[in-house]
Amino acid sequence: MTRRRTFLRQLGASALLLGLDPTRLLKAGTAPSSPAPANPERFKEGHMLSTWNHGIVANEEGWRQMQNGGSATDAVVEGTAVVESDPTGTSVGLGGSPDREGFVTLDACVMGPNGDAGGVCFMEDIEHPVRVARKVMDTTPHVLLAGTGARDFALAHGFTTRDLLTENSKRAWEEWRKSAAYKPIINVENHDTIGMLAQDRDGRLAGACTTSGLAYKLRGRVGDSPIIGAGLFVDDEIGACTATGLGEAVMKTLGSFLVVELIRQGRTPQQACEEAVDRIMHKMPVADLQVGYLAMDTAGNAGSCAIHSGFNYARTIAGHTELVDAPHRN
Ligand code: ASP
Repeated sequence: MTRRRTFLRQLGASALLLGLDPTRLLKAGTAPSSPAPANPERFKEGHMLSTWNHGIVANEEGWRQMQNGGSATDAVVEGTAVVESDPTGTSVGLGGSPDREGFVTLDACVMGPNGDAGGVCFMEDIEHPVRVARKVMDTTPHVLLAGTGARDFALAHGFTTRDLLTENSKRAWEEWRKSAAYKPIINVENHDTIGMLAQDRDGRLAGACTTSGLAYKLRGRVGDSPIIGAGLFVDDEIGACTATGLGEAVMKTLGSFLVVELIRQGRTPQQACEEAVDRIMHKMPVADLQVGYLAMDTAGNAGSCAIHSGFNYARTIAGHTELVDAPHRN
């Protein structure tokens, strides 16, 4: 918890700080070496990775889905949907922190085998943006729907509206309004964006990412999470990656795509995540911003890396889940 608070302090600087004072650019440190190549046999029954502590419940649901014959796509969509419904999480779905004007706006995307992808962004009043993203993927020729268009699309597909602002998130927003300092804090106490990656017993890969984005963001702001290639990228022949942290830094470096491309070029997921973090650290001052990457390849290797300490993830292999602290570079 303490480390998490430190982490949050580091997140305290807003996107507005990006690009200022290049002298603050930090050098990349050394991270633990890559894990030994995994035995693919071990992963036959499914392999899942999800960001943060809430990754545990996401993976549990993902595992249930797979046990019932579900695919990797079923696992990541229904796994992350559990986190969207948790009113105590202030950075995803119900109870997510609103924007500056008090509106909860949600971003999500999903990517399945064969390069299929769908997403929604800046969507209001719908509890499960990740399921709407799947509908976009499965039923339209498009990849991303935004704002009222996304909401109308959801309603046309049987989703119902719900007030996503809870008493707690409303109270916190009202408290914030007293100073209204534009210092978006990305998350609170280990409830950050949920990004989830899965490989099912057929070896297929899928990923999903869902968030309410930066707390008290400017109205209309959309981060990396619904952007294919930024918050999430899956190439079924290579691997998958998802991101968490300050979306602007991820978008400027197209982080998840970069990680998967580095795996394609021969890096392990661990090496690829480290290199993507280093790319951010090379390009911008990072003293006040955090980004974490989480990746897997088709052989069952996992990797993760963050700029600062504090990022962790849940890993499930053959039904057994553990929380893992990600290495960091600063
Ligand atoms: N990446 C998300 C965003 O920038 C925030 C987060 O990970 O909490 O919207």
